[in-house]
Amino acid sequence: MDKNTIDITILGAGISGLTTAFWLNKQGFEITVLESKKEPGGSMVTRHEDGFLIDYGPNSGLETTPLIGQIVEHVGLKGEMIYALEKANKRYILRQNQLHALPTHPVAFLKTKLFSPKAKLRLLAEPFSRKSHEGYYQSISEFVKRRLGQEFLDYAVNPFVAGIFAGNPDNLSVKSALPKLYRLEELYGGLFKGFVLGAKERKKRAEQSKQSARMFSFKKGMQSFPEAIATKLGGNVRYNCKVESVVKSGSKFKVLYRHGDNSEEIVTDIVLSTVPAYHAASIFDDPENKLVDHLNNIYYPPVKVLYLGFRKEVVGQVLDGFGFLIPEKENKTFLGAIWNSAIFPYRAEDDMAAFTLFVGGARSPELFDNGNDKHVNSVIKEFKEIMNIGEDPVFIKEKMWAKAIPQYRLGYIEHERYFEQFESNNPGIFLSGNYRGGISVGDCIKNSELTVKKICEYINRNAIR
Ligand SMILES: Cc1cc2nc3c(=O)[nH]c(=O)nc-3n(C[C@H](O)[C@H](O)[C@H](O)COP(=O)(O)OP(=O)(O)OC[C@H]3O[C@@H](n4cnc5c(N)ncnc54)[C@H](O)[C@@H]3O)c2cc1C
Repeated sequence: MDKNTIDITILGAGISGLTTAFWLNKQGFEITVLESKKEPGGSMVTRHEDGFLIDYGPNSGLETTPLIGQIVEHVGLKGEMIYALEKANKRYILRQNQLHALPTHPVAFLKTKLFSPKAKLRLLAEPFSRKSHEGYYQSISEFVKRRLGQEFLDYAVNPFVAGIFAGNPDNLSVKSALPKLYRLEELYGGLFKGFVLGAKERKKRAEQSKQSARMFSFKKGMQSFPEAIATKLGGNVRYNCKVESVVKSGSKFKVLYRHGDNSEEIVTDIVLSTVPAYHAASIFDDPENKLVDHLNNIYYPPVKVLYLGFRKEVVGQVLDGFGFLIPEKENKTFLGAIWNSAIFPYRAEDDMAAFTLFVGGARSPELFDNGNDKHVNSVIKEFKEIMNIGEDPVFIKEKMWAKAIPQYRLGYIEHERYFEQFESNNPGIFLSGNYRGGISVGDCIKNSELTVKKICEYINRNAIR
């Protein structure tokens, strides 16, 4: 392999594919990104309609790594980047039809009615909880119940997991889904102790914890980011190119794809897949079907995103926060709501209030079994009650994500190990995307740097000297 003429083909122009392409391109490699849709961004989809800015995928990201700022700067988007208003740090949880601010300091914690006195006392026992070594086979629920108690699980962690993964903490592996939380116990023996000592470590690495990282977006919405990276990459990103298969061809790979009505192909030295696991499952040559099984066994629950616009003056709830999450115990028809226009400017006209609601997820995937839409009316009714709104929305949009977010379920380590094994058995093929190393936008960007390192190591090992 001649280092100066290496071709790298990347499947998928979501944030994982584009940020990896960006770093590789900067290092001077010849890259091609093949994307099946007609636009970049994958899950990052922004639309502008009737004065509303609708983010159907992520509404924001957390600046957990300096890499985000570096890319933003390089693609000329610095002037467009915006940070959440100070008040958006406040997050509400619903309990008995009341919204309670999640306490962020000890006095607020003592005063809050979100947790009972018994639950508060239980938290004091956290430093004395025994350690567990079950790791990948321990659910988030088991971990949190053991360290922090049942009520904290029900009224803090259950809604939090719904907010991030649209997931159910009973089924997710604490070590795969929340590795940093698990690591606090592993390294420091407890969460409180770990929070304090871990902060010192991050400071050294110039990283931010998810609790303290700044929440960002862009004036024209989240999709501006992948669009700007794709623009920078120019003709190297090809749209309407649905990759159908990757086969070995001598020392190279043949990537076969559909471009409109045509079948086309690229011969390349290296293939990096960043498409969702269920798409990757049909692309790679896998005589024993092992890769296919692992990829197809990753569960992506359905999520409906419901976007509502109301006249601001009819909203009874003070919009002084990020939004609210709903614990499963509260038996509502949706998972929570983001108060978009209270977080970032440019989301709606001044006299309007915009909200994004999430329905379904791993908590209630059966809602969509019959493909009926009856629940939308119930969701709007419940939302209006919680928010003290006496009028119907003036603007409604919805998007169904049939397979929304990969769930890092119990035993996820077996998938993770197999993907590593597959890469070492198939040198030149790399698997990436949000089913490896974290689902958040920030995690995908951090992982792009790790993927680039892996690819460069592979090139250095095989390069002609
Ligand atoms: C509703 C929702 C809300 C979210 N909210 C947040 C949030 O607030 N904050 C946050 O940090 N994260 C959030 N996330 C998660 C985050 O947005 C995603 O994990 C991340 O954007 C995934 O990026 P990716 O590039 O790995 O995958 P994707 O975005 O899925 O990109 C994969 C790309 O591959 C393409 N593709 C698929 N098959 C083929 C093929 N055969 N050939 C060529 N191309 C193909 C797809 O079209 C797509 O463009 C949310 C996700 C969803 C769905």
